[in-house]
Amino acid sequence: MREILHVQGGQCGNQIGSKFWEVICGEHGVDPTGRYQGQGDGSSDLQLERINVYYNEAYGGRYVPRAVLMDLEPGTMDSIRSGPYGQIFRPDNFVFGQSGAGNNWAKGHYTEGAELIDSVLDVVRKEAENCDCLQGFQVCHSLGGGTGSGMGTLLISKIREEYPDRMMMTFSVFPSPKVSDTVVEPYNATLSVHQLVENADECMVLDNEALYDICFRTLKLTTPSFGDLNHLISATMSGVTCCLRFPGQLNSDLRKLAVNLIPFPRLHFFMVGFAPLTSRGSQQYISLTVPELTQQMWDAKNMMCAADPRHGRYLTASAMFRGKMSTKEVDEQMINVQNKNSSYFVEWIPNNVKSSVCDIPPQGLKMSSTFVGNSTSIQEMFRRVSEQFTAMFRRKAFLHWYTGEGMDEMEFTEAESNMNDLVAEYQQYQDATVDDEGEYEEEDQEENYDS
Ligand code: GDP
Repeated sequence: MREILHVQGGQCGNQIGSKFWEVICGEHGVDPTGRYQGQGDGSSDLQLERINVYYNEAYGGRYVPRAVLMDLEPGTMDSIRSGPYGQIFRPDNFVFGQSGAGNNWAKGHYTEGAELIDSVLDVVRKEAENCDCLQGFQVCHSLGGGTGSGMGTLLISKIREEYPDRMMMTFSVFPSPKVSDTVVEPYNATLSVHQLVENADECMVLDNEALYDICFRTLKLTTPSFGDLNHLISATMSGVTCCLRFPGQLNSDLRKLAVNLIPFPRLHFFMVGFAPLTSRGSQQYISLTVPELTQQMWDAKNMMCAADPRHGRYLTASAMFRGKMSTKEVDEQMINVQNKNSSYFVEWIPNNVKSSVCDIPPQGLKMSSTFVGNSTSIQEMFRRVSEQFTAMFRRKAFLHWYTGEGMDEMEFTEAESNMNDLVAEYQQYQDATVDDEGEYEEEDQEENYDS
């Protein structure tokens, strides 16, 4: 058994996290009381075979999410508790305060959040101790606010300290002015990225800017709500975790996923794509062929991150197809995409695209595909946040809210340069060719001889 421990924090984290549980409960045949209902179509074995990755089995055969919910205010968690799947969570695993974080990363990371963190760690420890062989953690949070962002990254660093050899995956929602009107979000996001570069192993980037654009342009929703954005997020989260939850070979645990996708440790921010895109509540009659799914999945319009893959190159990528389809056709289509677009894949990592097929489709669809790519073009998103950060930081605007919580200006400077370094690293590998590899090695050797 290789268990994953899920943590969701802050308003956004709790909202997308609880949607994730609703969706996967549906896929695994678990009803809101935690009882297995099955589907009666012979897929039951598949539904249960790896259910222990995300669920604990309690007395009486009830399945309980291995989930910890944290927040610095009670509101969002109250509504989860009274929502459709509210009763499925272990009541002791709700940890919350009353103070709020006021969209201030410093409050989440250093003051209010730091006060509550030990109670969260107690619950995390308890869950971890119950595991047979914990593979790692997944954290759902936004980077633009105070709790998910500040306290979320505090928790990530504490977990790293206590479980240094376990994997840490995050579902991180990046802020966009199209969706939110809090001006300090670039500060909170940059301070968080600074942490995620060092303390997370793999980050699934969910960019509100791209999610908004998908809702507005593709799904033709004139005023997209968080519910609409979160519908896209939960479909994506279900797709990304599919290979962890159902039997199969490719990327079957967090470490294998990381090994396939991360050629350099800092470059672990992934672009995720999904096809077919559907809106919340729409009648999901959309039925696509394998070539259509493949084409859409690679399309910039289907990426949950506002960056165009054609402005960069793929270091690596993985595709997960779901539903009943021919593996041969999937392989052919994937090869086809790579052959036609070979300049968009770095040639110095041969076979850098993997694909797999899982028999069980998401609910409401016959087939779907999820794409996870490590693309150097993701620097476009970091650049966007960095520009917004720098515009304010140059004048030290709003800094007193952070220094007032005891933060040093130095941490802002460091976060800013860490993110700029990240952008530069993506650019360096975007420009790298097979031929200059030898030169790098020679330079390294010379340095060694010198010293
Ligand atoms: P926290 O409770 O202090 O962690 O703050 P929030 O989670 O509200 O963080 C604010 C950021 O999250 C802003 O960028 C919001 O646009 C975004 N956000 C808040 N709720 C949601 C949500 O339900 N879905 C999405 N996609 N973004 C959200």
